[in-house]
Amino acid sequence: MHSRLFTIVAVVSAVLSLPAHAAEPAPAEPIKYRLCDCHLHLADFLQHTDGAKAALAAMDLAGIDETMVCGMPVVKEWAPSEKIQPQYYLDDDSRCYWYSATDTLVERELEKLPPDQRKRFHPFICGINSEDKNAIEHVRRMLEWYPGFWQGIGEVMTRHDDLTALTYGDVAHADAASLDPIYKLAAEQDLPVSVHSDVSSVWRREPIYLPEIENAVRTHPDTRIIWCHAGISRRINVPTLTTELRRLLKTYPNLWIDIAWVVFEDYIAKGGQIDPDWVAMIEEYPNRFIIGSDKVGHFADYPHEMQKYYLLLDALKPETAKKVGHDNFLSVLPKKAK
Ligand SMILES: [Zn+2]
Repeated sequence: MHSRLFTIVAVVSAVLSLPAHAAEPAPAEPIKYRLCDCHLHLADFLQHTDGAKAALAAMDLAGIDETMVCGMPVVKEWAPSEKIQPQYYLDDDSRCYWYSATDTLVERELEKLPPDQRKRFHPFICGINSEDKNAIEHVRRMLEWYPGFWQGIGEVMTRHDDLTALTYGDVAHADAASLDPIYKLAAEQDLPVSVHSDVSSVWRREPIYLPEIENAVRTHPDTRIIWCHAGISRRINVPTLTTELRRLLKTYPNLWIDIAWVVFEDYIAKGGQIDPDWVAMIEEYPNRFIIGSDKVGHFADYPHEMQKYYLLLDALKPETAKKVGHDNFLSVLPKKAK
């Protein structure tokens, strides 16, 4: 009987893609700010997830009211030559492939929640190969399959250093012809688009890829575009970043800057010290910066990943801290979602 029960549990766990031991979130600091999260992946690079309920529990611990939620548009292949199943895209040399069913995973997870909990999640469509001109068809299909459900598009993966190098197919660009109809549809449907587009390579110090995201923002003035991580990724070092950001923010009112992930540790709070130039820039454009966890499928360190922003928020004027920590994210959502 026990072994039969074990088999049933094992099969159910496998079908639901649950990890064997979903870790409990680490204890959080006392809540100092009510926050929103502009960047949360419900699934990891194997499409595994602790689930929306676990995400919600972590949000409650960290004082997070609402969050963007998307899946993960790629899967890390487990190559026959690899003995250990890779969990992260950098775990081994195997490739990643585009995986559109991630959007359905998000929908199924959110369906499990009662309406008052579900409304704290703002789901974005992300399961597209962004350099494929067929991608628009998937976006339309998702809007048709789940009417009224989606509140944005993204994280659209374009240039992403090692991830780009490891993913099958051509390199995707933020201003690719394949994304043009998606930006247009987003404007028609009042949906924001969040785009990961590295500002440079890991070797050059000039922002060599900046024109790609700038073209996208410039040629789609009616589309609200969120630039993920201000174009920063691991090992990308562009000394002129804040100069470029100021120019972009001044020129394009349809651009928002997501400061999730390594841009915080590598630029904004390098060595644990908040950079006054970033504080000055955020005060110059208090409505345009948003924070996020960039957690992928598992939420054990979620509170830490959101409460790290306290350091920055403490350095801002209280009204700016409230905007950056909470209100700016809500401001980019569709009118119907607010
Ligand atoms: Zn991300």
